[in-house]
Amino acid sequence: MPDSFKICLDIGGTKILGAVFDENDKIVHRLKKKTKAGGDSAANVEEVIISVVDELIKDADIKKSQIEAIAAGAPGVIDQQNGIILFSPNLPWRDYDICSPIKKKFGAPFFIGNDVNVGVLGEYKYGAAKGYHNVAGFFVGTGMGGGLILNDTLFTGNKFKAAEYGHMILVPDGPKCGCGQRGCLEALSSKQGMSDYIRTQVARGRETMMAEYVVDGVFKSKALKKALEAKDEVAVEAVNRACHYLAIATGNMINTISPDIIVYGGGVMEACGDTFMKKILAEVDLYSMPSIRSTVELKKAALGDDSLLYGGLAMIKDAGK
Ligand SMILES: [Zn+2]
Repeated sequence: MPDSFKICLDIGGTKILGAVFDENDKIVHRLKKKTKAGGDSAANVEEVIISVVDELIKDADIKKSQIEAIAAGAPGVIDQQNGIILFSPNLPWRDYDICSPIKKKFGAPFFIGNDVNVGVLGEYKYGAAKGYHNVAGFFVGTGMGGGLILNDTLFTGNKFKAAEYGHMILVPDGPKCGCGQRGCLEALSSKQGMSDYIRTQVARGRETMMAEYVVDGVFKSKALKKALEAKDEVAVEAVNRACHYLAIATGNMINTISPDIIVYGGGVMEACGDTFMKKILAEVDLYSMPSIRSTVELKKAALGDDSLLYGGLAMIKDAGK
């Protein structure tokens, strides 16, 4: 019997990460590819996924027949049971059956779920939340994603729309959010929120080494890390503000679901996680009930950029049960 492999993808608005897992759950090959999903049609995004899988098969020197299953995490509202992308904010998908064409092309089962749900699942099965039963995740990236595992089950709510607590409103007259509201956690604590803050300070004439990174868009997490190391005043302010609201959101989460653990992942946490954790931990007790807070652990994600890839692996294994 030849070896079998699992292929897992992390489909983002600007890049796709791919990995080939062997039978021992080890990543034996990986790939990173830029996408230009914004202007492309759904079919083109599907083509990119197919080309990434093709490339992984070729580079890892495996046969199509050796693929046991393929799994992916992607942004948006996703019917995980049927592999239908119902809505995606950054990718051109509406009620799109992504499952059938990929299944047909590679002759293997294909699973897809919401990116942060899949990331939290990865941390739950293989990372920081391994062994816990009730897990809440905050994924700090360009946006602010959420994912919940309740009583050892991924909680997707009615019509797969649960855990959008990146849009819990913390400042009703606060900065505008991409969702149309004001003062959402995402508008305050995500890369987008921090970039907007920094841009406002630059417009006021303040000096910051972050200025060039926020001219027309969001900064890269690595740039923020450098600015924090250099104690750049505006960057420190943006991070203090982001962590203040993350601490409030965390307190609300603790009081609402009393999880065993809250995990903080995403690109910002991967680059600057220790700073963020220190600041969140310093404030969270102010915003949560002591008796509930006392039984919740707060931890940085352990798998870093690979949370979603391992979450894909978990989806494949769960389906095989
Ligand atoms: Zn919002």
